Amino acid sequence: MRIKFKVTLGVFVLFTFLVIMGGIGLYSINQLSRNTQNILKDNFETLEYMNTIIRASDSLAINPQMISVLKNTLAAQEMNITEASEQALTFSLRDDIEKLVASSSDSFALHNLRFHAVAIQELNMEAIKRKSETATNAAAQATKYLVLAATLVGIVAFIIIVNFPGYVANPIVQLTQSIKAIANKDYEERLHFSRKDEFEELAVAFNQMAEKLDEYEHSNLANILFEKKRIETIINRMTDPVIGLDEKKYVVFANEQALQLLNLTEEKIIGQYAPDVAVENDLLRKLIKQEESEDRANLLKIVVAGKENYFSKQLIDIRYTATGEKGDIPIGQVILLKNITPYKELDLARTNFIATISHELKTPIASLQMCTQLINDQRIGNLNEEQKKLAQTLSDETARLTKLVNELLDLSQVETGNVKLTLSSVSPQRLVEQAIESVKLQAERRNIAIQVKEAEEIPNVKADPEKTTWVLINLLTNALRYSPENGKIDITIEKKENHIYVSVQDFGQGIEEKYQSRIFDKFFQVPGTTKGTGLGLAISKEFVEAQGGLISLQSKYGYGSVFTIGLPESNPS
Ligand code: ADP
Repeated sequence: MRIKFKVTLGVFVLFTFLVIMGGIGLYSINQLSRNTQNILKDNFETLEYMNTIIRASDSLAINPQMISVLKNTLAAQEMNITEASEQALTFSLRDDIEKLVASSSDSFALHNLRFHAVAIQELNMEAIKRKSETATNAAAQATKYLVLAATLVGIVAFIIIVNFPGYVANPIVQLTQSIKAIANKDYEERLHFSRKDEFEELAVAFNQMAEKLDEYEHSNLANILFEKKRIETIINRMTDPVIGLDEKKYVVFANEQALQLLNLTEEKIIGQYAPDVAVENDLLRKLIKQEESEDRANLLKIVVAGKENYFSKQLIDIRYTATGEKGDIPIGQVILLKNITPYKELDLARTNFIATISHELKTPIASLQMCTQLINDQRIGNLNEEQKKLAQTLSDETARLTKLVNELLDLSQVETGNVKLTLSSVSPQRLVEQAIESVKLQAERRNIAIQVKEAEEIPNVKADPEKTTWVLINLLTNALRYSPENGKIDITIEKKENHIYVSVQDFGQGIEEKYQSRIFDKFFQVPGTTKGTGLGLAISKEFVEAQGGLISLQSKYGYGSVFTIGLPESNPS
């Protein structure tokens, strides 16, 4: 049955009860009034008539006219007979009156008249009493019926009032609870209303929705689990060690290779707070440490199975941007290690080879230099113009070869960690002056002015004077090489937070942005460069960093470049 129909039915039942109650009430009131009317009208009129007859008979002796009052009243009484024996008594009354009409002084007839009138009065009094009782009884009866009907209606109305709100509200409460359960991802929740109304339809629709959500959740979960497995397998199959941390530095995963390298079991590290594990594991401590500078610090030497291995470390911050959100949030870090031992070994072999070759080349180059010097000085004979030119070329190329061999030797020294530093407290101005002195001729040849701008009081730096001058000469040589003729070079010396910075600025072609990150790499030259070896800046970087300093480049293509070296102050306050 539909709820709409049930509500209508409930209201209709209550309305019907109301009508029945009203009907019973009306009927009872009618009945009562009828009884009361009867008593008043007929019997009371008879009592009046009899009173008139008695009073008229009393004054008959003195007023014979009263006989007509008697006659008229009798006629009225005869029309108003209501009780059973009233007829006979009225007949007797007629007899008496007729006798009095014949003789008004008939005392016997007068006596009888009074007797019969009183008898009729008594009879009607009786009737009034009886009818009054009947009316009382009828009223009691009506009250009884009314109370009964009211009780019945009350009970039914009570049942309807008690049950009906619950009948409508209970399913809504259940529905609310079930919706809350679904909102809490309890997709097993179902509604059961077997009542063949709108609520049952609602329950069916709700259950279908829950089922679909359940299916979706399970398929999603299965997909997520599958993808998780896939990613775990990929990570485990990786030949390089990988470790994943969440944003609170708890270890989320570590593949076989990482576990082997750390010499830890899965139970000892997965789910653990990495800094806690790192307390007893030196390698993990190095791995989770965020290095400020790249390169060196991210190169780890690890002994695996008794052999030295080299790993490059990459610590990647993972950030996540939720759809529709602005900005991203950190969700963890991934530590990637790459075994670079084979490259390192090759590099070492190459460095050793270059060192040996350069060293071996030094002697023949020295004799070459001497020979060309002798030829150029014309000590072994005069040269014609053609021969002079050739001798000059020979001399230039020998100088180039000497520079290259020296640089290669420097580089191999740096790479094998054999740079011998002689640190002392030196004046940066002094170092700059020496470097300018070395390139003075070159600058004059191309008419390039070298200007030094310095703050008034520059403290000494802690540096290896020879290596630092070498770096400055290299920077100035490059600046001269890439400056236009008649140009200028600015050198700035300034102090910033316990460091002295020397910048060499040229106004030449500058360096394209895409090459800037590789400019300090070994043998790197901007494509199209014909002069040089591509080693100067690489060696400069090694020299500066070995002294605890840093080197940087700022350049705008088409406007020139600024190379800056920063060295620690000698006696910082
Ligand atoms: P090189 O001996 O070739 O000069 P460097 O290591 O000193 O080797 O320089 C590497 C490369 O960087 C150079 O070949 C050149 O292309 C570029 N370079 C260096 N200094 C400058 C500069 N001041 N202006 C433009 N390019 C420069």
